[in-house]
Amino acid sequence: MKLGNQLPVMEEFLSVQGEGANTGQVAWFIRLAGCDVGCTWCDVKDSWDAKNHPIKTVDELLQNALSSGAKNIVVTGGEPALYDLFPLTNALKKHHLNTWLETSGSSKITGLWDWICLSPKKFKAPLSEALGLAHELKVIVLNKHDISWGLDFVKHVSSTCQLYLQPEWDKRDKASEIIIDFVTKNPNWRVSLQTHKYLDIQ
Ligand code: SF4
Repeated sequence: MKLGNQLPVMEEFLSVQGEGANTGQVAWFIRLAGCDVGCTWCDVKDSWDAKNHPIKTVDELLQNALSSGAKNIVVTGGEPALYDLFPLTNALKKHHLNTWLETSGSSKITGLWDWICLSPKKFKAPLSEALGLAHELKVIVLNKHDISWGLDFVKHVSSTCQLYLQPEWDKRDKASEIIIDFVTKNPNWRVSLQTHKYLDIQ
């Protein structure tokens, strides 16, 4: 794990959380660069190589977050768990901001988090320790096998962890049918949609 006082950043922006349990809430997004997972359908492949993005200090990131006026800060990627996120989250928590993490759980999770959304990926398995920290398990669905694969993780998450199935955007018509069929028979699972893409916002 790399030291977290300086972090590679692909972009920072104010938007609305589009998917999962916090859908609809305004948030400041910090998209860290660098990912070692390699999902074939990834929609942020530009984030993969950290060397292509500027390094920013925790203080710069904090000031930008404060200037946004948002109370919720989403740290996403890329795979943000590649970095020690204690320095960043300590700084955000000192200012009473809500810290939300989006991760595949394939690297050790560090930091102080109010909400951890763990979306496991077939390309690099999540750590069971990371699954145990998740507030939300979000399985991306392209086909029926993705659901049976995702069910295996339920035994590793806490009893309060919220369970979501989300259609992969490019396969959303077929995947949505599969998901609706499943959740009507398994109502402990919920549907997550990428509403920011339907709204055509970042
Ligand atoms: Fe893309 Fe996320 Fe998969 Fe990394 S983990 S390849 S950023 S979808």
